[in-house]
Amino acid sequence: MNPVWEQVDEYIVDRLCPNDRVLDEVIVANRKADLPEIDVTANQGKFLQLLVQIKGAKRILEIGTLGAYSTIWMARGLSEGGRIITLELSPHHAEVAKKNIARAGLEQTIEVRTGDALEQLAQMEKEGVEPFDLIFIDADKPNNPNYLRWALHFSRPGTVIVGDNVIRNGEIADRHSTDPRVQGVRTFYDMLSGHPNISATALQTVGSKGYDGFMIGIVK
Ligand code: SAM
Repeated sequence: MNPVWEQVDEYIVDRLCPNDRVLDEVIVANRKADLPEIDVTANQGKFLQLLVQIKGAKRILEIGTLGAYSTIWMARGLSEGGRIITLELSPHHAEVAKKNIARAGLEQTIEVRTGDALEQLAQMEKEGVEPFDLIFIDADKPNNPNYLRWALHFSRPGTVIVGDNVIRNGEIADRHSTDPRVQGVRTFYDMLSGHPNISATALQTVGSKGYDGFMIGIVK
């Protein structure tokens, strides 16, 4: 990785994402609990929070919780009475996430649902869960096409859908890639391309987590 990317991320975080004791503790707790170091960065978390605020979101769905670092960033951008449902496969990750959410005092705002996201989403449909204002897709990438289908199901016109890790070190442009994550994300792009119900784009990013990027779309 280019060391300048890391230095610039540090510079941005220092200037624009002021030290926050709870969020710093969440990262420490995640590493202590041996969670993989795949949380969004602080400047990406702030970016998600700003999207929540720009949208004025009250209802958020997150697919892929890990230790709830991104969840807490987003929760702090919610307007009064806002709620987040976040889905996590690993019971261990979900336990760590719940402790972090309690640490942040957000137990009334964030609901962690543990289990396979596709099963959780089907269950949510049965329960008649209402559409969301913003949906963040950040779980197992081979399932991105399925998550996009569900995200559209739980959307209404104006819903913002964000997907993380859609560049994958540039591998996304390699149609011969044998990586199922790359192929999952490529199918995700194929579905978005010319989809009548969503207008989307993607941005490449570099930083302390390497070379990757976000997809952002708005449901028509
Ligand atoms: N959004 C988190 C953040 O930035 O702090 C990072 C999420 S991490 C990239 C992906 C998470 O998705 C992992 O915790 C993983 O256990 C979870 N995951 C993987 N497969 C899943 C599935 N089928 N259903 C639900 N969660 C899944």
